[in-house]
Amino acid sequence: MIANILSIAGSDPSGGAGIQADLKTFSARGTYGMAAMTALTAQNTRGVTGVHEVPSAFVSEQITAIFDDVSVSAIKIGMIANANIAVTIADCLRHHVEVPVVLDPVMVAKGGHRLLPEDAVEALKEHLLPLAALLTPNLPEAAALLDEDVATDRDTMIAQAQALRGLGPQAVLLKGGHLDGEDCPDLLVTAEGHQWLEGKRIETENTHGTGCTLSSAIAAEIGKGLSLSDAATEAKTYVADAIAASDALAVGSGHGPTHH
Ligand code: PLP
Repeated sequence: MIANILSIAGSDPSGGAGIQADLKTFSARGTYGMAAMTALTAQNTRGVTGVHEVPSAFVSEQITAIFDDVSVSAIKIGMIANANIAVTIADCLRHHVEVPVVLDPVMVAKGGHRLLPEDAVEALKEHLLPLAALLTPNLPEAAALLDEDVATDRDTMIAQAQALRGLGPQAVLLKGGHLDGEDCPDLLVTAEGHQWLEGKRIETENTHGTGCTLSSAIAAEIGKGLSLSDAATEAKTYVADAIAASDALAVGSGHGPTHH
């Protein structure tokens, strides 16, 4: 049977990030995609111009409607927009702890626009991190969650990923794309230890939505029954291929989307 995967995230009308990227990814990975929306953004490849937050009671209503009717194999959480929505999502998901959650702690878009106010970071930590089977921060997000400097080397990445795991998620995939140099290593830390997923930097402007796509691909693969390690490895290859294929697209003049 085809796995049903739910994204709880924000909308990107230009189609490169947010729930639009999530749904494309779910389909491309051979799963059935669903989406409960936390916020509408107005944005294109040049940046975000506005955010319209969904009332938290209506976020709850969307999630409840899905769980009342559909068997969910895995969940990806992206942009949560504010502290109330973080608490609401946690309240909903506490009734469904058997469903694995991949949590992408979206904070700031590449153009610099904040997608999560600073005062909501504590709510994200307190309410959602403990529910996550996997947390997928990039280096600035990890630093913000830990209130530390951004890691610039692998030893610091190991220390920060382990510290993040201490905040509640069962595993952490710390993404090394912000490191200097041609390597883009991601670090998976689980109860069993740590594992590097190696990757090479691809020179392109078209990286809009790569974090959304990676976390969605992992959720899809976990929903299909893969182990965390295999799901993360498959997803990293999928995102690298999508970035490499992005030259075939002609979408906007800023940070373009990747090609699924
Ligand atoms: N817009 C939405 C709705 C998102 O969920 C995200 C995800 O991280 C972004 C924008 C950020 O996109 P990027 O930073 O890859 O440009």
